[in-house]
Amino acid sequence: MESIWKDQPQRTANMRLAVEDLSQTCRRDRYYPLCIAAFCNHCCRGHHDTRWWDDLAIPVHVDAAGQPTFPKHFPNGNPIEDWIVKRMVEEHYATPFKRDAYCTRCMRAFSTGLCFHHQQYCGRDFIVRRIEEHDGRHYVRCRGDEKWFADLENMLGDPVGEDYGELMLLPLLTRKPGICVQCAGPVPNPFWWRCSRACAASHDQEVARRRERREARRAALQIANLHVDG
Ligand SMILES: [Zn+2]
Ligand SMILES: [Zn+2]
Ligand SMILES: [Zn+2]
Ligand SMILES: [Zn+2]
Ligand SMILES: [Zn+2]
Repeated sequence: MESIWKDQPQRTANMRLAVEDLSQTCRRDRYYPLCIAAFCNHCCRGHHDTRWWDDLAIPVHVDAAGQPTFPKHFPNGNPIEDWIVKRMVEEHYATPFKRDAYCTRCMRAFSTGLCFHHQQYCGRDFIVRRIEEHDGRHYVRCRGDEKWFADLENMLGDPVGEDYGELMLLPLLTRKPGICVQCAGPVPNPFWWRCSRACAASHDQEVARRRERREARRAALQIANLHVDG
């Protein structure tokens, strides 16, 4: 370990996405009587009137057969009134939703099928909207000029597969917390993401090379498109 060298702090948005577990699915797992609706606790905790969330957000479990089981009491111990039960049982709880988006402002992965709050309040420009899963790996479909792109660039791999017009499919390069992105060895400080000056230099070079390859590929595609159009 070198004593003088310090890794530059990684952009926080990037740090959180690199360690998110996108393979987990979400579902409506709470009924919240104040909003008269069911929500996913992972996606929407904090998006509603949070003062009463711990007391009144009713957890709804789903059994092995996919049937929801409803508690008789609120988390604060009070019985749930019949008119609330009537509304609560009408919602759909079992359907799983993929975590297919990431908000770079809130630094949270979420499901666009369950949560519209980031689009509404954080703004579309800050949201990585198209996280896709293919054969157990996660990819981001994007153009490369999105506002969030610079924040996440160093954790996106080379374009793979087919392009849909102008969109590239870039593999998400995830890592475990405390592990160097370059050599997979331990980092000397939990806030660092590269373990040494040498790893930082190689990693910076790799990011720059990936940028070149991406740009070359986009330029080639544009030329190909020109030929098709002309
Ligand atoms: Zn969720
Ligand atoms: Zn939400
Ligand atoms: Zn609400
Ligand atoms: Zn957000
Ligand atoms: Zn290293």
